[in-house]
Amino acid sequence: MSDLDTLYRELIIDHSKHPQHFGLAAEEGASATSHQRNPVCGDEITLRARVAADGETIRDVTWEGSGCSISQASASMLTDLMEGITRDEARTLIEGFREALRSRGQLELDEDVYGDAAALTGVSKFSARVKCAMLAWVALEDALLRA
Ligand code: ZN
Repeated sequence: MSDLDTLYRELIIDHSKHPQHFGLAAEEGASATSHQRNPVCGDEITLRARVAADGETIRDVTWEGSGCSISQASASMLTDLMEGITRDEARTLIEGFREALRSRGQLELDEDVYGDAAALTGVSKFSARVKCAMLAWVALEDALLRA
């Protein structure tokens, strides 16, 4: 295992043990909640996106959930990334993440763009775990359609 793999693995474990933005924020202003399940692995994510008064900027993303370390770490990494960006920027990030995760190891997530979530790059080589990593991102995509 390379040093990078080790680093990425530690980041995933760290986020799953110390999840960021865990606990749903109050529903106020424009907000929407999405509940997603991955029955294959037993992962569940409930995610809430709140949009600022301008209607475009994401105020914050909070979540609750249970399941494997990849699903929980991915939710934690995602919420860190989305705060304060616009809906369009979020959509672009979600699309890029999905493309990389479905690439079977061909595409890498850019750490400058994806921050800690770039650690999930390696998951794309394990098709059974892609759904785990995607779960929170699908939840955000869904919530933003309604927030
Ligand atoms: Zn899982």
